[in-house]
Formats: sequence, structure tokens, C-alpha cells
Amino acid sequence: MKIIHPLPLLLAAFLLGSSSGRGDLTVASLSTITTDLAKNIGGTHVKIEAIIKSGIDPHEFEPTPGDVKKVADANLVLFTGKGIEGYLTKLEEAAGGGSSKFLNIGEDIPSLTMNEDGKNVEDPHWWHSVENMKMATRVIASAFAKADPSNAASYQKNAQSYLASLNELQRWIRVKLAGLPHDQRKLVTSHDALQYFAHDYGFTIYPLKGVSTNEEPSSRHVREIIEVIRGERVKAVFFESIENLRAIQQIADETGTKTGGSLYSDGLGETEANTYDSMMRHNVSAIVDGLK
Ligand SMILES: [Zn+2]
Repeated sequence: MKIIHPLPLLLAAFLLGSSSGRGDLTVASLSTITTDLAKNIGGTHVKIEAIIKSGIDPHEFEPTPGDVKKVADANLVLFTGKGIEGYLTKLEEAAGGGSSKFLNIGEDIPSLTMNEDGKNVEDPHWWHSVENMKMATRVIASAFAKADPSNAASYQKNAQSYLASLNELQRWIRVKLAGLPHDQRKLVTSHDALQYFAHDYGFTIYPLKGVSTNEEPSSRHVREIIEVIRGERVKAVFFESIENLRAIQQIADETGTKTGGSLYSDGLGETEANTYDSMMRHNVSAIVDGLK
């Protein structure tokens, strides 16, 4: 009697499996910024579960049981770090499987610090610097290549073309901002989210609140901002897409400044500003049009 040896069958199944998308990745993303990066770098090889969608305040987010399941099922979990994901430890524990698949994209990006309730804390909004986005692109491409070596060449190629588009964006921003004199680079915004942008392009920020978005500013602080606007002849104040403070309108009314539209600070928009590239172009255009 002839015995069919199982090994060739197993080998055939393995080879078939590895060439029919078995290496493809499922990636959970805890920020609209990392979702956009993952789409650009992952292309067709990555399935993305966007846990935080546009319009959700990342400072206030709490994952649902459905989110925990998506995170548990993912091969990699991307987050922006520097303290914005206050729920992270709980999510890691709830999703199980160890923390090694959680990828802190902001970890090696140099931090700016800010004052929050009298304490010095890291500013989590690093994506407002195009240079930081280039670092994030390289980090994600390496992580995808490591987790899914069969598609490594594709991830690296996609990353190269995304880096080229970031260079083009950087050129566009510099040309656009050249029309705004340095003494007019003063931003009055709802919460302190644009420091990295300010740092790169020589703006001074006058935020109504600190790093997080959860309360109205004191009336004393509103008076201080009004004095700054009058003293510095600031021409516009800005709303933010996620949270609109009544105080911004009050300040505009009292000082006679324009409201310069909504800036996207904590994440991407749903229809407009729904990619990193279009968000930056939207913000820069609104800032230049408002302040010049
Ligand atoms: Zn924020």
C-alpha cells in the first residue's frame, strides 16, 4: 500500500499561503494622522481600522468594546504618543497580546514642551511640523516592512513617494508664508496645538487654553489675550475644527478682529482637509488670508 507523505502537501499549502496575501497587515490607528500615513505607506497591502475618526477629540477619547476588539485583532497599532492617548495603558491591557505591537510614532520625534495647569508637559501635536511627518513616514515604513517582509519593497517605495510629496508640501508652505511679514505671525487659537508649526515658521502663539481641550478659559486670561491683540495689532483670531470656544467669538467681537475660519489642529477633517497634505494647505491658507 502506498502511503502519501503529508509533507509536500503542507509545503504546498505554506507556499500558496505566503503568496496569496497571507503576509498582508491589519493595522489599527489611534489618530487620523497615522491613518493617513498608513494609507499612503501601506497601499493595497494594509487593511486599516481607523479607531479615531475625523471629528473625534483625541484628548477626550475613550475606546468602546468594539474598538478593543479591533485593536486585539490588529497586527500593529499606531498611535501618536507624547501623552495624548490617556487611555493607552487600559487599552493595551484590555486588548491583550502584549504591548510590542503598539507603535509609538512620536517616540523619537523631539518634543516641544508646554505649560499645563502649572506643570511642564510634552506637547503632543508634533504632526504640525512637516519635518516631523518625514520622520513618522520612515518609522511606519520600517515597522510595516518588519511586520510584513514579503511586501517590504512596496512599503519602502510608497514611503519614498510620500516623502517626495512632503517635500513638495514644504516648498508650497514656504512660498505661501513668504507673503506674510514676520511681525504679523501671531496666532490666537482655542487650545495650544500649533507650537510645532509656530516653531518651524516663526509664529508666536497666544492660546486661550493649554494642551487639552476640555474647558473654557478664565475671564482674566481672556482679558490678557484681548490686550495682546490690541497691543500687537493682530488682525484675526481662529476657531478650531474640533472645539469652538465661545471666547474666540467674544474676543473677535470686542476687539473688532476677523475670525479667520477654522484651523484643523487635533486631526483631519471629514470632507475638507481630509488628508495631511490638504489639512496643512487649508491651515496655512486660512492663516495667511486672516493675518495679512
Ligand atoms: Zn490638541
